[in-house]
Amino acid sequence: MSENERTCGFDPNNVDDQWWERSPDSLESDDDLNIPCDRPEWEDTGRCVLHAQRQKTVEDLNNTIEIGEKLDFAYIPGITLSELDIDFSGMIARFAEFSKVDFTGTSINGADLRYSNLQYSELGGMSMDRVNFSGANMQEATLERTECRNVDFSESTLKQALLSQIRLRSGVILDGADFTEVELTGAVAAESVLEDYESKLERGQNWHAASKEYRKWAAVADNSSLPDSYSRFYRKYKHSRRKSYDFFSIKRLFAGASRGFILYGESPYRTLLWMGAIITIATPAYSLTEGIRSGGETINLTCSNLPQYLYFSIAAFFSLPYANYSPVGFGAKLIAISESIFGALLIALIVFVLGRRATL
Ligand SMILES: [Zn+2]
Repeated sequence: MSENERTCGFDPNNVDDQWWERSPDSLESDDDLNIPCDRPEWEDTGRCVLHAQRQKTVEDLNNTIEIGEKLDFAYIPGITLSELDIDFSGMIARFAEFSKVDFTGTSINGADLRYSNLQYSELGGMSMDRVNFSGANMQEATLERTECRNVDFSESTLKQALLSQIRLRSGVILDGADFTEVELTGAVAAESVLEDYESKLERGQNWHAASKEYRKWAAVADNSSLPDSYSRFYRKYKHSRRKSYDFFSIKRLFAGASRGFILYGESPYRTLLWMGAIITIATPAYSLTEGIRSGGETINLTCSNLPQYLYFSIAAFFSLPYANYSPVGFGAKLIAISESIFGALLIALIVFVLGRRATL
């Protein structure tokens, strides 16, 4: 039997060193994987040129890969694709080994790269449409300044990937992708992409890590001029950061107060609500003391005198002159002083919140 008559016989179920991320069962049953492989053997490797686990040169591949051929389970790490005479748009290369592959200078529009290994691959500055990276391992891959449309990153691993200035346009799917320690400086995203991602985010167990991720996505929303998205990510960031502090700590206390009084600086309404509540509670509280006095005459809290009490309470809250009203006794003075202190603090807070929102 001559060498040329031997076939590859590659079967993913019988490989010791798997480079792909999921079991081939992850695909739907109607996806044809062509296994076992019936390509001719390559250079006494026992496998075809695609499936042999050996470093290949551009020449090796140029002579053997045909246009439109399925590259499932292909083992071609470290290759510069633009050096090959092949059009990679629409390529089908699931479960392939593409680590350290340089994709720049090619078009991979319409490519199916599900569950492939793209660790350390170079995809920076590319413009891609309809690419499926679902379930792929893209750890430490470079997608800097890459323009993505209808690109599916769902369930992919982008840990420590470089996504600076990436453009995530409409149709990009980020569900379940792992963005741990990802670099997102200057990235922008379409509103629908962020909204979809945000609605499916799970906060996980690690509050500290979660807060770092939310903060990055808040910045992406801010870069993209999407104030509502920004606000949602920012609140999640603050919430997870608060949770990451020790329960009995000053930081946790302040974060709790920030949430309670101003919703982390995002809601002037919450501050207004507190103002109203303090004035409303203080008004009848004066009746538990010796009350207030006007022109030397003590005013009892009755229905007809209620407006005068309310006036006094508002005046005390906003540190306005009480005119001819004055608190009587220690209790009433204490309430009036407390109102003034809370008033000053809440006015400062509302100025802070409004100023913060105006600069968005
Ligand atoms: Zn093969």
